[in-house]
Amino acid sequence: MKTLVTGGAGFIGSHIVRWLRKTNCEVVVADNLRTGKRTNLPDNVPLYEVDIRDQAGLADLFAAERPQAVVHQAAMANVRESMEDPITYAEVNIIGTLHLLELVKDYNCSKFIFASTGGAVYGEGRLPIESATEGVRGARLAPSPPPLPFTEDSPPQPKDNYGANKLSCEHYIELYHQNYGLPYVILRYANVYGPRQDVNGEAGVVAIFSGAMLADQATFITGDGGQQRDFVYVDDVARANILALKGDLTGTYNVGTGLPTDVNTLYRLLADLTGYGRKPGHLPRPTGEVRATWLDCSKAGKELGWEAEVDLREGLRRTVEWAKMAAATA
Ligand code: NAD
Repeated sequence: MKTLVTGGAGFIGSHIVRWLRKTNCEVVVADNLRTGKRTNLPDNVPLYEVDIRDQAGLADLFAAERPQAVVHQAAMANVRESMEDPITYAEVNIIGTLHLLELVKDYNCSKFIFASTGGAVYGEGRLPIESATEGVRGARLAPSPPPLPFTEDSPPQPKDNYGANKLSCEHYIELYHQNYGLPYVILRYANVYGPRQDVNGEAGVVAIFSGAMLADQATFITGDGGQQRDFVYVDDVARANILALKGDLTGTYNVGTGLPTDVNTLYRLLADLTGYGRKPGHLPRPTGEVRATWLDCSKAGKELGWEAEVDLREGLRRTVEWAKMAAATA
């Protein structure tokens, strides 16, 4: 099955491309190289340098390549930037996705896979211990956030424009399914980390810490470091995309480890792996930052046959080894 990977020259997209090549799938990539790099791709994979806002450019690509499936990773994915430039974010993340959906409909593609985000779509969650305060007689409680871990049925409550963009795309995709029968899989990723990650991406904390630690530079933790995230290794995420392409399922799936890790723990693991001895500085916690988020991924286990296989320490070890190699060849 010939598969178009948008954003295939980026961090996650380039891992998906390599997995697809391993399964002998024919792959083409569309990427404007905003954060992606040609060198992230194997030499024999055709790269169309096209912006997904360019409807005519995408139409030319479809006419030339006639892909049978689309794995849509291209996006602008920086939360802070999305608040500063909401228009460009909507143009790339929403209009760009609609351009693709129109072509996927016109060319009758057999599958549309969409990279969504658990981190930004669900918003704030309630820690298990906080449940104890529920239902106090007579208490006037503010609307309570849904309990953690988030399941696919937790109500989405994005707190930023990037999360709103992704949720909006999810609604459009569902409508293309209802109105035109488009088979789709939406994958809501947790915090993805691993080789080739850009420090400016959605969840670049591993890349930022490991880069600074290996260069023996100062490191900074925002807030008290108690914020909890679900860190999932990029190979596991790429494998979820491959499984999503293969099956004939349509649906939305969380893709994470199901385990929370606080930033202080992540910091200690990376300091240990890189031999970094300096103490971190502290920066103020960004306004509106979610305190805790992690994902229940049992639906992906049952229906896609997917679960994360690489544990955090092993994934960080592989990432640090790659960063050392990249620094040595730079
Ligand atoms: P990335 O920046 O490395 O990859 C995005 C790719 O899209 C890049 O190659 C970039 O050049 C390309 N791109 C950006 N704007 C484009 C445009 N207008 N036209 C064509 N190409 C464009 O980021 P990533 O971390 O690999 O993210 C991949 C996808 O996964 C994104 O959709 C992101 O929202 C989603 N996601 C990432 C994470 C994470 O933890 N990294 C978590 C949840 C969801």
